[in-house]
Amino acid sequence: MTWPEAGDALLTADAAVLPTGSVEQHARHLPVSVDSLRADHLSAELCEAAAAHDLAFVRLSVFSYGYSEHHMAFPGTVTLSQDTYRDAVIEIGASLADHGVDRLLLLNCHGGNREPLSMAVDRLGRDHDVTTHLLHWTDFARDALEEEFGDEWGHAGDHETSVVELFRPELVRETETEPQDTRSFPQTRTYRYFDDVTEQGGLGDPTNGDPAAVAEIVSETTDEILRALREDIENGW
Ligand SMILES: [Zn+2]
Repeated sequence: MTWPEAGDALLTADAAVLPTGSVEQHARHLPVSVDSLRADHLSAELCEAAAAHDLAFVRLSVFSYGYSEHHMAFPGTVTLSQDTYRDAVIEIGASLADHGVDRLLLLNCHGGNREPLSMAVDRLGRDHDVTTHLLHWTDFARDALEEEFGDEWGHAGDHETSVVELFRPELVRETETEPQDTRSFPQTRTYRYFDDVTEQGGLGDPTNGDPAAVAEIVSETTDEILRALREDIENGW
């Protein structure tokens, strides 16, 4: 958009959408940009489907870098500190507020961003009067993903491999796609670094990737998110 186009869009849309991802290892068969690619494509689906729910969004560029300190043992990972990440999201929201945006959707596609995003949401609401909705895409897809892939659909596994196969199949290194060697997760603490639990940098069995099944999950999840948003907005949230 040009600035006059952006000026109009930001004032007339029901909300601005900031897709958030990360740059970090995703096993040996997927690029480090997976979460940002997912944020890009899944936010495009959301904005396209919004009209059917009587909503109109303006989509911002993907905020590609995330909080990924726990992935730093793998080359190619880039991380912001939690404080920097939180402040960057607050400042993006504050910039939009200066141009008249009063509602912001954060469409998050990386687990590590959860905590700093929660803190940014607090500040955006209380300090900048921006009504901010925090949407973790996989929270809305969890039941469908578990039904399709079982418990181990996580990082660089069946689910994320399927999403890349669906939207950007040329990026999957097929000869490197293999079941991941993983340790079981502890019950009373969390791992410090991701290479404590996985050899290749992923979880699950990405050879089970099924882009057709995931295409259905993407469209159901997109509708699910839009239904929830519509309802919250109608209820004055
Ligand atoms: Zn990921």
